Amino acid sequence: MINKIIASSLPYLPKKFVWLFSRRYIAGETIDDAVRVTRDLAGKGMVATIDHLGEYVADIKEAKAVQQIYLEMIDRFESEKLSVTYSLKPSNFGLLIDFETCFELVRSVVEKANRHHSFVRIDMEDSSCVDAELELYRRLHKIYPLNVGIVIQAYLKRTPTDIQFLAELHSPSTPVNVRLCKGIYVEPPEIAIQDRKAINKQFIETLEFFFDKGIYVGIATHDRALTDMARQLINKYSLTTSADYEFQMLYGVTPELCSEIIAAGHQMRVYVPYGKKWLGYSSRRLKENPKMVFYIIKALFKRG
Ligand SMILES: Cc1cc2nc3c(=O)[nH]c(=O)nc-3n(C[C@H](O)[C@H](O)[C@H](O)COP(=O)(O)OP(=O)(O)OC[C@H]3O[C@@H](n4cnc5c(N)ncnc54)[C@H](O)[C@@H]3O)c2cc1C
Repeated sequence: MINKIIASSLPYLPKKFVWLFSRRYIAGETIDDAVRVTRDLAGKGMVATIDHLGEYVADIKEAKAVQQIYLEMIDRFESEKLSVTYSLKPSNFGLLIDFETCFELVRSVVEKANRHHSFVRIDMEDSSCVDAELELYRRLHKIYPLNVGIVIQAYLKRTPTDIQFLAELHSPSTPVNVRLCKGIYVEPPEIAIQDRKAINKQFIETLEFFFDKGIYVGIATHDRALTDMARQLINKYSLTTSADYEFQMLYGVTPELCSEIIAAGHQMRVYVPYGKKWLGYSSRRLKENPKMVFYIIKALFKRG
């Protein structure tokens, strides 16, 4: 209970103090930090997807600044010869302000990724964004089928319909590439399944649907029950890692499970967030697992 209270009061605590809790989940504030962490992960046999922190923007000027950050990010990782993919949130590119402008801004990032044989994943945001984000993906996938991917959230009630839509876009020359996760936003029962067991059931059914259709999946979860079941399905379908699927985890979360999966020979892609807007992101991570707050406080007192 006390951990929950501390976790939910994080936004009101001094930033320096919150950083002590957050640094486990964030590469740092600058692109140099993201490069350093990516290199470190590569040394441990992992690949990365890089996310510049930020969500809704107030105007298109701000969205254009985010576009510049992503374009420079691609240049930087190319010059470092680090093979990464990029993850972005369309609301950060003005999705809810002007769809067409957002499309153009994201298109320019995917176009640049295409020139460097790289890849951009469109993160899936709350339910008010899902239709627009699927449409954004449909249009970009038509132009750059090998350089753009989407996310499916297993908790959404609409997911069985959305995956049919993705299956229709999928062909050998236009392969769909999807990240499958549970879904992080708080949604009402009309929109999202609330029961954990039922979410896991839909996660595994969705994963099997993709495997059956030959769709590449980034299996994004820290839930051991799900990674175990996913591994059974991988065997059942005789799939090859990095050709047919990969596992994905958030930077700093469940490192032991992460190492175990790598040791078993599966590709692991770590989601590496960086940027000045780390406060909201890390508050979400800590709210998900308030027990972390207890361990961090213990460590703080020990050091003191
Ligand atoms: C690579 C990646 C990309 C994602 N992209 C999206 C996206 O685009 N849209 C979206 O809605 N959601 C996204 N998510 C979040 C996802 O939807 C889940 O909310 C999140 O992963 C938690 O669910 P879980 O499957 O890990 O299972 P959970 O049951 O929540 O967690 C399983 C176990 O992991 C451990 N754990 C979980 N969180 C923490 C933590 N913060 N610190 C320490 N241990 C922890 C705990 O031991 C917990 O029991 C993404 C997740 C990943 C891994």
